[in-house]
Amino acid sequence: MLKPEPKPWIAAIRAYVPGTSKSASGRPLVKLSANENPLGSSPAALAALAEAHVAADYPDPDARALREAIAVVHSLDPALIVCGTGSGELLHCAVQALAGPGDEVLMSRYSFSLYPLLAQKVGAVPVFADPEGYGASVDRLLAAVTERTRVVLLDNPNNPVGTFLPPAEVARLHAGLPADVLLVIDEAYAEYVDPAFQTHAFALAKAHGNVLVSRTFSKAYGLASERVGWATGPAHLVDLVNRLRGAFNVSVSGQKAAAAAMSDQGFVAAAREHNARERARLAGAIAALGNHGISASPSEANFLLVHFEGEVTAGAALAALAEAGYAVRHLPSQGLPNALRITIGTTAATTDVIAALRKLCGEAAA
Ligand SMILES: *Cc1c(COP(=O)(O)O)cnc(C)c1O
Repeated sequence: MLKPEPKPWIAAIRAYVPGTSKSASGRPLVKLSANENPLGSSPAALAALAEAHVAADYPDPDARALREAIAVVHSLDPALIVCGTGSGELLHCAVQALAGPGDEVLMSRYSFSLYPLLAQKVGAVPVFADPEGYGASVDRLLAAVTERTRVVLLDNPNNPVGTFLPPAEVARLHAGLPADVLLVIDEAYAEYVDPAFQTHAFALAKAHGNVLVSRTFSKAYGLASERVGWATGPAHLVDLVNRLRGAFNVSVSGQKAAAAAMSDQGFVAAAREHNARERARLAGAIAALGNHGISASPSEANFLLVHFEGEVTAGAALAALAEAGYAVRHLPSQGLPNALRITIGTTAATTDVIAALRKLCGEAAA
């Protein structure tokens, strides 16, 4: 054993595996493996980035202007918003605040691959509730709650499946939890959902003491590189996260770009519309390959989880898509050896992916 020895729960961690952008032979590929925005970023955000050239000074530790920009768009109290180095930092803080060695952090079997790490980092045990189909099951999550459960992590829409738990189901999950269990609703993909379903989690967090909602600028806002996320919830939870987060956790450029992006809701709407259109086109093409054992889970996010249960394997499809120039996400380490998660890319990318899958199945070009 190497000295100094880490804590046993730290030694057991396997580092987060990000999406690749290279083929097995090292050739660069178009990335459809990390759910990035194929439209790039809002021009307003890019202009703000070009102006944010002060590197010598610390950023505003409280991201005041950014929190106010978020509060205006979402009709929230800026005092109940906390910003993070991506929403990942905030999820980490939430788990760290409530769970420790011996405690349980509950999630659906197929959830964001970061979640088990968040539990392990604090010595807690990640507990996986069986899904329904592949998506989260409220009944099975509630049945898996024990007296050791401290936090429930729910990504809605879910990654890697893409399923969306409707507001009534999320409310039923919350209603079934003890008041001393924190429900974190991770809405990284909320902007891709029908706008009518985008505010229910905020209302739940406003009405209850044990709900925290997180959002990110990494997906529909197209600012993954800037590492900005935010969360909202009751004052005592926001206070806990504020104590645990990094003191200067969002850079000057990140704060400026995110605030400008918030004020350009037209870009977000365009991203949602592009995504809905191309996702429907890809889903339709995959449904047409059903006789080859290929299907996609229903998705409200900016990707499709595609299942390969016939003669064409996920591995063969991964290779064929790499050959066509695209990197997608194979998730055997998440218990999905027969599935690929394909990010919705540009219109050209969708066309190429469809053509590559049809060719692999021996079908004529569509
Ligand atoms: C991409 C993603 C995030 C965003 O992480 P950031 O740290 O904000 O970049 C959060 N949750 C889920 C489920 C995701 O897929």
